[in-house]
Amino acid sequence: MRLIKYSISGGYEDVDYGPEFPTGMSDQQWLVVAGFEIGTMVTDRVRDDPDRVLLMDPEVVVYWPKEESSTRRIVEVRTGEDSHFVLVETLSDLLHLRLALAPLHLLALGMRLDSLVTVAEKTFRLSHGHDAYESCEACDPERERLKEEIAGMARDDDGGPKAN
Ligand SMILES: [Zn+2]
Repeated sequence: MRLIKYSISGGYEDVDYGPEFPTGMSDQQWLVVAGFEIGTMVTDRVRDDPDRVLLMDPEVVVYWPKEESSTRRIVEVRTGEDSHFVLVETLSDLLHLRLALAPLHLLALGMRLDSLVTVAEKTFRLSHGHDAYESCEACDPERERLKEEIAGMARDDDGGPKAN
């Protein structure tokens, strides 16, 4: 694991922190050895389906130290297949970092909304037999009446002089 440090005054910088990181050790194992809680601050979504989050969208996970008096945190920023681990020493650094990461949350939210729209469209198509942006008598009778009216006017226009 390559750890970088973030602080308001120093920005991002490389840091040599914590225990050795031997080959074969996972990031999560290292976090435990380094004295951090695993899984306590993980979002529901990560808990439910970790792979999905990793594949679908950026996610920010904050790891708390087991030592309660410490203000140190490690923030994992997941972007696609990569994870970046950022050490912060104070709560104000943490807040500042989270504000800096806010656009990632927006991006993730956008992707989730996109997925929701896709699911809604598929569900609609399944129940109605037509695209969600079209209509039928069952889902939008008012629009269907308007379509009929317009079709009727077009037929009248096509038929030459109108009968009185
Ligand atoms: Zn319909």
